[in-house]
Amino acid sequence: MSKTIILSNRLPLQISIENDKLDVTPSVGGLATGLKSFHKDGDSVWVGWPGLTEEEIPEDLKEDVQKKAKEENCVAVHLTSAEIDGFYYGFSNRTVWPLFHYFMEYTESDEEHWQIYKQVNQKYADKILELYKDGDVIWVHDYQLLLVPNMIREQEPEAVIGFFNHIPFPSYEVFRTLPWRDEVLKGVLGADLIGFHTYDYERHFLSSVSRILRHQVDFNEITLPDRIVKVDSFPMGIDYRKFEQAALDHFEKTSETKSELQRRLDHHLDATPDAKLILSIDRLDYTKGIAHRIRAYEYFLDRNPEYIEKVRLVMLAVPSRSNVPQYRRLKREVDELVGRINGKFSTVNWTPIWYFYRSMPFENLIDLYTTCEIALLTPIRDGMNLVAKEYIATRTDKTGVLILSEMAGAAHEMNEALIINPNNFEQVSEALKTAFHMPKEEQMERNKMLQKRLRRYSVEKWAQDFMKALRTTRENRDAFK
Ligand code: UDP
Repeated sequence: MSKTIILSNRLPLQISIENDKLDVTPSVGGLATGLKSFHKDGDSVWVGWPGLTEEEIPEDLKEDVQKKAKEENCVAVHLTSAEIDGFYYGFSNRTVWPLFHYFMEYTESDEEHWQIYKQVNQKYADKILELYKDGDVIWVHDYQLLLVPNMIREQEPEAVIGFFNHIPFPSYEVFRTLPWRDEVLKGVLGADLIGFHTYDYERHFLSSVSRILRHQVDFNEITLPDRIVKVDSFPMGIDYRKFEQAALDHFEKTSETKSELQRRLDHHLDATPDAKLILSIDRLDYTKGIAHRIRAYEYFLDRNPEYIEKVRLVMLAVPSRSNVPQYRRLKREVDELVGRINGKFSTVNWTPIWYFYRSMPFENLIDLYTTCEIALLTPIRDGMNLVAKEYIATRTDKTGVLILSEMAGAAHEMNEALIINPNNFEQVSEALKTAFHMPKEEQMERNKMLQKRLRRYSVEKWAQDFMKALRTTRENRDAFK
């Protein structure tokens, strides 16, 4: 029986070791949910790094890790801490991530990181090749594994391989600056189907292929000497029902079962009934425009002092990649900005920003989504932005206003939101005012359309569409022979 092999940098598992005992719990991220329908008993196997380095897993527990992973239909690729440094923190997050998000000044070109990236991609590819049988379908995910599709193709020319890039693909003028641009494109072109979140990323990729490798590109097909590669956009959705249901359950809670956070939010609402909460949630990443947001909020309060004590920015920043220097610098910058603005505007009864630097359990995310009347998401560049979609899905009474950066992939599907350019503080400030005063009927009208679309294009549908298109490429190839 043929199977689907899914490959991502990380396995959808959380592994921890306590008192020499191994604990494995399945993680519930978007990708894991989306692929659930394929990742059922026997149908599929998921290959990836289990999240602990070789050094962190004692020798006698290594086999246990594979055993536990197998119970979840997963296969672990073990990586050393030097490999994680060069491959993940190095090339993936200091070269590809900044370059693909247009942060050219942050992009490093370190030959050693590149070499380790290649070695580790080969390690992932080798694991796939061990498991691969004729007829299997392989789906490779994201920017950490750009070279894997061709590494598999070289050994298994007939394999059906899909690749999905979860981050933006930059324009040719930016991509061309990468010293290893040819190798990276050739690596991805090992796939039969290459997917992006938006049509723009797809176009950028096609233009790089045609200008750098000089392959023939017709519409969305690339003609290689021995095969045709198809490129398409598949905007990733969310597990809509999960967020909707969580919001419905949230409103059933009594004062005893409410979370501590919700009690604090309620207290705020009771004390200031005509004030509104503005929510932002993101990983602390320079692409997310967190400093821009705070400065735009300052601009708004400076010019519109009548909103003092009438709004509060609830800002959740999740710690991320803190061993990359830019992330540490950003943390300091955000700390300083929050301190300065709270110092500048606070009154006896009010602070303008509530800042949380941590990750929150799902229940608290739902508390925030359902309680804040406005969401302000201002990435400077973002492949998709699932938070925008999750916010809308939890607004079960259809009220709430989403202000969203046009630089987020999600903006292409969320026209009914207030779409802004995060660099234009005047526009952000105007959008905040519009959001504050938007009549309930208008909010509901906008969210009705957004919800309908998000419900239909769920993450399951995204995975199904991609797999269907991938299987079609195989059928077309067979028919062509
Ligand atoms: N999220 C989370 N814990 C938190 C805050 C956020 O699990 O404390 C989740 C959030 O629900 C969303 C994801 O993290 O699903 C962020 O996805 P997004 O596409 O917005 O940004 P990314 O971090 O992937 O760049």
